[in-house]
Amino acid sequence: MPTIRELDALTIGQIAAGEIIERPASVVKELVENAVDASASRIVVSIERGGLDAIEVVDDGVGIEPADLPLALQRHTTSKLRGAEDLESITTLGFRGEGLASIAAVARTEIVSRAAPSSMGARVVARGTEIGIAEPAAAPLGTSVRVVALFENVPVRREYLRSPSAEFNRISAWLSSFTLAYPRCTFTLRHDGKDVWVMPASGDEWERLAMVFGRNAAEALLSLDGAAARTLDGGLRGFVSAPGHDRPDRRMQLLFVNGRLLRSAALAGAWMSGYATYAMAGRHPYGAIFLELPPDQVDPNVHPTKSDVRLRFANQIFDAVRRTIAATLAGDAQTRFRASVAGVPPSGVSFAPSEPALFDANESHAETPPSGPRVLSQLDRTYILASDGESLLLVDQHAAHERIAYERIAAAARGSQQSEPLLVPQIVELDAAQSAILDRTIELLREGGLEIEPFGERTYRIVATPFGYGARSFDLAGFIEDLSDEPKQRDVRERVWASLACHSVTVAGERLEFGEMGSLLERLQHCANPMHCPHGRPTMIRLTSLEIARMFKRV
Ligand code: ADP
Ligand code: MG
Repeated sequence: MPTIRELDALTIGQIAAGEIIERPASVVKELVENAVDASASRIVVSIERGGLDAIEVVDDGVGIEPADLPLALQRHTTSKLRGAEDLESITTLGFRGEGLASIAAVARTEIVSRAAPSSMGARVVARGTEIGIAEPAAAPLGTSVRVVALFENVPVRREYLRSPSAEFNRISAWLSSFTLAYPRCTFTLRHDGKDVWVMPASGDEWERLAMVFGRNAAEALLSLDGAAARTLDGGLRGFVSAPGHDRPDRRMQLLFVNGRLLRSAALAGAWMSGYATYAMAGRHPYGAIFLELPPDQVDPNVHPTKSDVRLRFANQIFDAVRRTIAATLAGDAQTRFRASVAGVPPSGVSFAPSEPALFDANESHAETPPSGPRVLSQLDRTYILASDGESLLLVDQHAAHERIAYERIAAAARGSQQSEPLLVPQIVELDAAQSAILDRTIELLREGGLEIEPFGERTYRIVATPFGYGARSFDLAGFIEDLSDEPKQRDVRERVWASLACHSVTVAGERLEFGEMGSLLERLQHCANPMHCPHGRPTMIRLTSLEIARMFKRV
């Protein structure tokens, strides 16, 4: 029988540290968060060999009294929490009292600090469970913590570390992101004796955004429109990239709750669904979102590194994030469309649900209003060439038609039912996987105006199509295929509408009359988001005369 024995303090410390200190960047996080909690206005982080050799964080915060120094290094010792009741109202980044103790458990740690102009500074050194005594030392106001030989006593952990430059990049990525929430503090990052970057304190938030995201990327950021967030108890601010400006991954989607930089799948999902029809599949918007919530609505005590939190009114919060992003993007899309077809005053006319011929281009013969962009030609049976006198517009006829159809379907689904029965129902046979998808979406399709009935084993009958769709035969199998490829995050309803729009409109390769092209542009102009198709592809490219002049090397 194996005997049960109590672990020694060193082992206990290393096990506990294992959750918090995973790599050099975790040490930086604990130390920088402590400096921010100490109200520092300057924080200097110095790294040697990616943090494998040394990590030092110096701040000008409130400091630690000599008598408290050894205490600060012990486990479960904190100045930020008095009792369990305070767990409901945490306003600091730390509170568990195990940051310094965990670092000391896996590295040699030295703290030098001075708390007040009158008092003396002091120094203490710790290693494993051994904490030295505080000795007087000359020191500037504030605290400096130096950590050397990380994981010296935990060789397995060291093996998991990447190269010094990879570890340094992680530190730099985390720290630069973190600084966004603290624009009034100056942050410096050094590597092997050289300043890698300095972010000076600034009242201008945009300056910091430009430093973190880069100037070009920051220029594509839209400030969030706060109207949709008024329902929240706290605040919601931030900057999100405009449609068309995106990244292959989510690393630049920064989410802060009460000053904490989080990795929250739920909040990232809310962000993505706010983008719904703007983002291309597989691409991700970037930016920074700051939520400020009453402390009793946020529980940060669910994760040892506090990199995710539990929110009391999570659904309302996610919904506010989603709506705020959607409203901001819709406002921006309108503005940009007006700019790109300059000369067309926004008429405010919208298409009434009863207006026909949104799906069948052959039925529409409306002429382009004289003030609007003038259609020049159709190119390759795929693009519409138009001009507003100042620039050349290239419109993807399929993407444009899809956008119009999508908004039409969405409006119909939200309002009264708009479908037209087919005189001769269309019979379609599907395979097992396709019919499973159809069974799940059949109700949503009905809302969008497409009525399908089961008609025997894996056979279905299309009995009605969206109003104005006409007698084109509906590509049900293609439509279902499209549905199953769509990224998961998107709201099912919007996915169905987008796919429905896609399979009910003009395709590339179809010849269009001048009148049809004019009417397409006209209808596009009235869309809430005229610049992108529901799958996130652009509907239109604009070449200004200046850009053309550059191509001809005139300027
Ligand atoms: P926590 O941050 O959860 O309180 P830590 O182990 O990180 O736990 O720190 C323990 C205590 O040491 C803090 O509560 C604080 O009083 C003190 N301390 C740590 N770092 C600093 C610092 N940079 N400036 C002032 N006090 C600090
Ligand atoms: Mg701490």
